[in-house]
Parts: sequence; C-alpha cells; structure tokens
Amino acid sequence: MNKYPKFINDFIRMCSDGYQQGWHERNGGNLTYRLTDEDIQDTKYLLEVHDTSYPIGTHVPHLANAYFLVTGSGKFFRNVVLDPEASIGIIQIDATGERYYKCWGLRNHSVPTSELPSHLMNHEVKMLATNGSHRVIYHAHPANLIALTFVFALDDKVFTKELWGAATECPVVFPSGVGVVDWMVPGGKDIAVASSEKMKEYDAIVWAHHGLFCSGESLDITFGLMHTIEKAAEIIVKARSMNLPRINQINDEELRQLAKDFQVTLPDKFLS
Ligand code: 13P
Ligand code: ZN
Repeated sequence: MNKYPKFINDFIRMCSDGYQQGWHERNGGNLTYRLTDEDIQDTKYLLEVHDTSYPIGTHVPHLANAYFLVTGSGKFFRNVVLDPEASIGIIQIDATGERYYKCWGLRNHSVPTSELPSHLMNHEVKMLATNGSHRVIYHAHPANLIALTFVFALDDKVFTKELWGAATECPVVFPSGVGVVDWMVPGGKDIAVASSEKMKEYDAIVWAHHGLFCSGESLDITFGLMHTIEKAAEIIVKARSMNLPRINQINDEELRQLAKDFQVTLPDKFLS
C-alpha cells in the first residue's frame, strides 16, 4: 500500500474496517473525503489533467474546485484493498459546482457512488458549519441501527434519547443528537436535500430502513461516530431481546451531569 499518500492508505483501511464490522454487504455504503491543500500536493504525481466533466446531479457552489477521494458506485468495500484504483478514485468539482472531473482511479469507466449528491450536499453544509474542519462523510448499513428504524418512531428526539440512554459515551460523542429522515428513494437529489437540511444541526443522520450517514473532521472520528451509534443500537437490540420490561436507562439528570463533566452542550429540546 506504500505507493499512495497516507490519506489514501487510511481511506483504504477504513473501507476494510467497515467491511469487517459487517456494515457493507455487497456494494452497500460509500465514503468520501475532502482533500487538504497538502493532500493535493502529495497526490500531484497521481492526478491526471482532465478534459471531460460529468454532472453531479445537484448544485454545490461552495465546493467549486475542491478535490474528493470517493468510493465508486457498485464497488464492494471488501475489494477496495485488493485493487484500489478499480474501486475508489479522486474527483475534482468544476468551477460551477455542478459537474466533476475524474482525476485518478475509478478505472474501467467506473463512476463515483450513486449517493454523490447526498455526500456533496452534506460536505457543503458541514464545511460551512464547521469553518472547514469537517472533511469526511460516511454512509454504511449497520444492522442494529437499521432494525431500530422498524420499531421506534422516526423522530429525532426518540432516536437521540434512546441512543443517549443506552451507552454512557453517546451524549459525549454526539452531543447534538441524531437526525432521522423518513424512508426515501436513495441515490438522488431529494434524499440529498432532506439529509443536508438535517446535517445543519446534527453530525449523524439515520436513513429509515436503510442506514446511517456520519460527518466528521477525520476518517478516525467519523468511523468512531458510526461505531459508537451502532454499538448503542446493538445494546438496545440486545436489551429488548431479553423479553423483559426495561427498568433502567441513563436518565435526564444523569445526562446533565455527563454534559457538565465532559463539557458538552446537550440541546434543551432533548431534555425534560
Ligand atoms: P453505491 O454502490 O452507488 O455507493 O450505493 C451503495 C449504497 O449504499 C446506496 O445507498
Ligand atoms: Zn446505502
């Protein structure tokens, strides 16, 4: 793996790690990373001069000229490490924010993930909201979290409180909570608009009966957010599977104590 800059090797490792967790059946899930200026310099020897551009399917003017490392549509996360240039690639957004160029990888006429509109609209929202610090959008299909979308009301507060109440680290790792988007047809502009609206407020968005989108500063932080949410969902599924009434949960007073000691702000709308 040493012929690539570190950020590409880290991206490849994250694809393998997500597959090992069981979050990426077949071609399920997708990952995108916005390159830093340093990454672009480190990758100059790989990037090709491009002349053909392709439509993104939405408009992301604030991302004009930015470079992204992306997974390809229909590619299996388990295969990324075996042949990165067939499974992932680098694209550059054009000056209008409506089209992209392929600059590296995505061999044999491969194209970026079908969720590119959602990824790029989420990137744009988070880049603006975090003064550029968020660089990663990660979509996966974690089974326990998806299972909860069949039994809980599809509501931001319901999901946030259930997850916060199930594992002590949750309010500290995602203090703004999680958003929930009703079931929608994936892969297009409509679900991208609905998700990016919620991303203004949250770092994690549940797609009902489908999966989870996470945003973060780095690959590690974003993988960790996905992992933390899915672990809490697994605890809920296990506890509910015992067929006994629930008698305990981390309560609002305990959440307030956690927030104070860990210096995070939990929105009032989630606490009574
Ligand atoms: P892609 O293979 O196009 O990335 O799609 C996978 C997926 O999870 C769609 O939501
Ligand atoms: Zn998906």
